[in-house]
Amino acid sequence: MASGMKSVTALRRGLRNRCPHCGEGRLFSGWSELERCSSCGLVFVRNPGDTWFFTIIGDRLPIGAIIVLIYFGVVRSRPVLGVTMLVVLVALLFWTTPNRWGAGIALHYLSRVYWPDPADPIPPPPTGPRQ
Ligand SMILES: [Zn+2]
Repeated sequence: MASGMKSVTALRRGLRNRCPHCGEGRLFSGWSELERCSSCGLVFVRNPGDTWFFTIIGDRLPIGAIIVLIYFGVVRSRPVLGVTMLVVLVALLFWTTPNRWGAGIALHYLSRVYWPDPADPIPPPPTGPRQ
């Protein structure tokens, strides 16, 4: 149960664009990804490209499936409604891009927590109230 809670917490932090490890530091500065947490020092993406798997599984595949569903389910029978749905979807995707990046970073972080690598520097867990 404890590890499950940890996953939920890390994911929620990622969605809020916060460091999945401590929940304090920010993941992004404007539209650019930060390299490490300003609060606990966690390196967000260990190697460039490490998050591609989570980006594809958690992001590209569902989006592709939704677009295909709308296209075949709606656009063909009700073109105006279908195209409207696609436009709304694209706007939503654009709007939530940082949150989805954050979720990808959180999933990447969790994979490093559950399958630790001695060469991978995850900072010690934050302890006590910080100030
Ligand atoms: Zn942190």
